[in-house]
Amino acid sequence: MEEFTRAACAEPCMSDFCLLCTLGRFEKGRIYTFIGEVVVSMNPYKNLNIYGRDMIEQYKGRELYERPPHLFAIADAAYKAMKRRSKDTCIVISGESGAGKTEASKYIMQYIAAITNPGQRAEVERVKNILLKSNCVLEAFGNAKTNRNDNSSRFGKYMDINFDFKGDPIGGHINNYLLEKVRHPPFHGYSLCWSYFCSLGFASRNQMHSSNPVVPHGIPGGSRTLQQLHKLLVLTVDLKLQGHMCMMSRVIVQQPGERSFHSFYQLLQGGSEQLLRSLHLQKDASAYSYICPGAQLKLTPITPSSHTPQCSINDGAEFKAVADAMKVIGFKQEEIQTVYKIVAAILHLGNLKFCVDGDTPIIENSKVVSVIADLLSTKAELVEKALLFRTVATGRDVIDKQHTEQEATYGRDAFAKAIYERLFCWIVTHINDVIEVKNYDTTVHGKNTVIGVLDIYGFEIFDNNSFEQFCINYCNEKLQQLFIQLVLKQEQEEYQREGIPWKHIDYFNNQVIVDLVEQQHKGIIAILDDACMNVGKVTDEMFLDALNNKLGKHAHFSSRKVTHRPCCPLPSLPHLCATDKTLEFDRDFRIKHYAGDVIYSVTGFIDKNKDTLFQDFKRLMYNSSNPVLKMMWPEGKLSITEVTKRPLTAATLFKNSMIALVDNLTLKEPYYVRCIKPNDKKSPQVFDEERCRHQVEYLGLLENVRVRRAGFAYRQTYEKFLHRYKMISEFTWPNHDLPSDKDAVRKLIECHGFQHDVAYGKTKLFIRTPRTLFTLEELHAKM
Ligand code: ADP
Ligand code: MG
Repeated sequence: MEEFTRAACAEPCMSDFCLLCTLGRFEKGRIYTFIGEVVVSMNPYKNLNIYGRDMIEQYKGRELYERPPHLFAIADAAYKAMKRRSKDTCIVISGESGAGKTEASKYIMQYIAAITNPGQRAEVERVKNILLKSNCVLEAFGNAKTNRNDNSSRFGKYMDINFDFKGDPIGGHINNYLLEKVRHPPFHGYSLCWSYFCSLGFASRNQMHSSNPVVPHGIPGGSRTLQQLHKLLVLTVDLKLQGHMCMMSRVIVQQPGERSFHSFYQLLQGGSEQLLRSLHLQKDASAYSYICPGAQLKLTPITPSSHTPQCSINDGAEFKAVADAMKVIGFKQEEIQTVYKIVAAILHLGNLKFCVDGDTPIIENSKVVSVIADLLSTKAELVEKALLFRTVATGRDVIDKQHTEQEATYGRDAFAKAIYERLFCWIVTHINDVIEVKNYDTTVHGKNTVIGVLDIYGFEIFDNNSFEQFCINYCNEKLQQLFIQLVLKQEQEEYQREGIPWKHIDYFNNQVIVDLVEQQHKGIIAILDDACMNVGKVTDEMFLDALNNKLGKHAHFSSRKVTHRPCCPLPSLPHLCATDKTLEFDRDFRIKHYAGDVIYSVTGFIDKNKDTLFQDFKRLMYNSSNPVLKMMWPEGKLSITEVTKRPLTAATLFKNSMIALVDNLTLKEPYYVRCIKPNDKKSPQVFDEERCRHQVEYLGLLENVRVRRAGFAYRQTYEKFLHRYKMISEFTWPNHDLPSDKDAVRKLIECHGFQHDVAYGKTKLFIRTPRTLFTLEELHAKM
């Protein structure tokens, strides 16, 4: 880590290649650093005037190190490689939530759009326009305000841009990964529920025994006694006992301070009165329990009035921008209406209330059912039936089995999440349809080349890690493996080709962890799938036992069951706690990731992996008279007796998509943007050294620096090198009379005393440190 400490850089060099001086440069708004072809980017949290037309011109067509580090330099390098050498390239952007990945990907796209199509061809302009506009639509439906980022992408995105032989964009394709449906509950049992209330400002722990009214800070109308709060807590714990808390998702519930996807608020804030009326919606978000903060506790009367949108979010204006973007992309009016209807139907679903009549659950507010049926172009009786019953095949008989109230609520929430996910995937497919490259004749026009841009979640280590973090961190292991393979491979190949001796750098090869997760039959995902296949009740604990049996001896795996004494300060609670095993034990496993140890709680793994949606909902949607909805649910075509194959589990689907992604990236020449978040306060002033140090560590930047140090920062063919620098030596200006360009370069280098910092390859000159290059540039500038 000494590379990162300021002490190690006795005289701050402020070089754009020096990680040690990142702080100094951050303060001066110089947020980019180069490590070879990798750009390290520090989120400035303020608008910098560095992305304008003049800046684009400064980077256009220039070599990587000619200008200070910038995203544009990497974008241009990828573009040049693609255009000059017909290489498919990719730009992999990584970093944790809020580090600036999505902003970086947008600047890269803008740069590519700005430097292409000088001839203003209409079709190319159309494609460019759609590529740029697609961001706004995807963000509306796939982004949400989280505690880390007001505009956090809750999905991974890989976008290919296709170019023709002239280097102009002619199409593209978007892949999305793991739209976040499921989030871990923000609390565990009673004690954490209490912390949750404290965090809302209701009370502090030592107020527990007081019976004075508690006035929550900033929460209007909220004055509750602790006895009342206690009742609510018992209710919460009770809900947890029933298993409700495990399957919470952003569509149906949000953590304190967070929001659901932007699209919900945009519709309510930006939709015209007439539109809202037709959707039976009212403007006030607090009328909808799925987006009402604190809804998870069913505590509507005392929850905060709303997430006062921060100034960075303007839902009303965004609604119009998204509607315009959808039109530009080519969504038809009926399709846009269907999008609104689905969003509205989800809001109404959340307001459905079940109650028990005798033993059987019934829907309390049947008017809401009619509204949902109307929006989804189906019949109210069918919606009601799908919510209250499931069809099961027992032998040759098909029967309708009545849900319990708990199953009905579970089914309703799963349905809401599923229709939102289908909607998102359908939007992506729609965009892909209109930008797909059609009628490109390679025999006439030559190869159609690609630049891929990957904006995907970075490593996540929370206090409480669950299935989602497991998937995300597995994804990062895969990408790290790719980074090792490609960065090392490229360097090695280049040095070998050029006859430069290569000094091997010892790496931790994380393949062993990738295998631990994904190996067939033996990996964690295979063991999880096995557990999910078992008929009968399989618990998360049984899954943990299976993991332990099969992987207990693995060097990167360990598991534990810890007896946990919940904090139960109120007398009525101990018996409650005692009956709930989840309150007695922490059951988790630990993976030693390349970026550090992460402990995953197994709670919810089985449920989330199965991702069960009752078949009845699929058939309900397939039989909708709205053709768009019908199209989103093709598998609803199958009747109950025809459904034989188990759908692939969530983890296996994710694994398959990761393997396909990595296979795709392997074929391309990679460029990397590693984003760092300077602090957790979204502040342009604070540089939290400890936080930055940690990110530098797990992004593998130090290994990256080491490889670069052992190797060479710059390489260029002798011919091109001479072309640029021949004027700085009397031996080479205006022309040289030496036998070869290589000899001329040698002479030039020696006359300036740089011979100790270079190596001469067969066709290229290699310069070890960027400082030499800068001196050359300074000499060049003086001429
Ligand atoms: P990520 O995709 O990594 O989660 P974002 O790209 O959404 O993060 O960035 C989070 C926020 O940080 C943005 O909404 C913006 O306010 C700020 N930000 C990120 N990059 C920049 C930048 N280059 N210039 C100015 N602000 C930025
Ligand atoms: Mg993002």
